[in-house]
Amino acid sequence: MKRLICSLACLALWATVGCEKSEPEKPAAEIKAGDVSIDIKAPSGAEAILVSADAIDGKSDKVVSKCAGCALGMDGKSEFALQSHGYTMHFCSAECKDGFAKDIEASVLAIKVPAK
Ligand SMILES: [Zn+2]
Repeated sequence: MKRLICSLACLALWATVGCEKSEPEKPAAEIKAGDVSIDIKAPSGAEAILVSADAIDGKSDKVVSKCAGCALGMDGKSEFALQSHGYTMHFCSAECKDGFAKDIEASVLAIKVPAK
């Protein structure tokens, strides 16, 4: 029994050493460009509303330039701005901004983005 273990160990040792071939190393797994998976999960809730509210001015720049307090019908101004979900929202007046700011989350969800 002891012999068997010994020969097994020797065999294992030999196999290990024997495997040490001087092959040129292959490059590690190639990283293909464009293989990066992009999370295309559709945004939901408030974020989805902000995405479409952002797009209403024709550019998706994370700035909602229309006044959400006026159903996106009025041009907002940068001096009346709020941040929500990573978006900057511009309001036409302090009244609109303050009204919106009372409950930003609920106000965002209440935005009716007009269909184009
Ligand atoms: Zn307004």
